[in-house]
Amino acid sequence: MALSDIKGHASLRRLIARAAARDTLPPCLVFTGPDGVGKRRVAVAVAELLNCTAVAAPRGGTAASPDACGKCGACQRIARGVHVDVIIIEPGETGSIKVDAVRTAVNQVAFRPFEGRRRVVIIDDADRLVPEAQNALLKTLEEPPAASVFLLVTSRPHLLLATVRSRCPELRFGGLSTEEIGDILVSRHQFDPTAALAAAASADGSVARALEAGSGDSLEERHIAAEMLEVLASAPNPKRRLETGKQLAGVRRGGRSSAAADRETLTRRLRALATLLRDLQVLSARGDRAWLANTDSAEELVGLVPAYDIDRAVRGFACVDRAIAALTRNASPKVVVDWLALQL
Ligand SMILES: [Zn+2]
Repeated sequence: MALSDIKGHASLRRLIARAAARDTLPPCLVFTGPDGVGKRRVAVAVAELLNCTAVAAPRGGTAASPDACGKCGACQRIARGVHVDVIIIEPGETGSIKVDAVRTAVNQVAFRPFEGRRRVVIIDDADRLVPEAQNALLKTLEEPPAASVFLLVTSRPHLLLATVRSRCPELRFGGLSTEEIGDILVSRHQFDPTAALAAAASADGSVARALEAGSGDSLEERHIAAEMLEVLASAPNPKRRLETGKQLAGVRRGGRSSAAADRETLTRRLRALATLLRDLQVLSARGDRAWLANTDSAEELVGLVPAYDIDRAVRGFACVDRAIAALTRNASPKVVVDWLALQL
């Protein structure tokens, strides 16, 4: 895929293309920013730009801002992950990236590229590099071979060793707009435009989250979140409130249970809760139903409007937002849901 075919991140794409044209692209870069916004996709596009055999006669680019053709043999092999000069490293089954994978790549980049102009090493989920692997990488980052580029992709750059971070300039990716996500869902994931917009609206800038919102799991999470709103609609006593909070933090049916998985499930339920509260704001303000994130449950939501007027929905949304932020800062799930159940 060419850089110009990527949705969003226009200024970052321009920056990269210009640096490539002037041959001033740093030998190592960290791509940071939220999950699911296309960081890895951009990294692969950079690999194509640096190795496309037709780049001298760019299709959409200009001399100052060249772009890969996306069609030549080199571009296609890179896209399929089988180009000899483009190495993609990602976590294995254990969830971490072991030192061996890094050593193999480091040994390869010591030689000239086989067929392309630059060797590109893309390390996806680079925060999963075990410390030993990061140290193995460090020596190469200190004296990178002339024809190589390392692209570290991560949404958690703070988990990289400070020594690694200090050698790699960071490119920060922002979230995508609702329209950009909607376009991606329609063009690449066969969504119809209405469903795409609904999924995009609740995705908070991330394509991954939008796809999750269209999956079965997320229906279950939304169901649990909706139940909580129904119970709380009548403003029950604190005991009943805490009970319903417990359900929200409960283990997923048929799912694995570990502290990390439970925390993730709870976060997804809270996001579902947030989209429901946002929809309640729309409905109680008599807004257009086209703006609803959960268009398919509009009727059930209408039933909740008398209990959740706009003030309560707005306040509730803010509380859920705080709860999600607290969870990402490692607050105890129990403390978070107890607090939330008493606030909503
Ligand atoms: Zn090409």
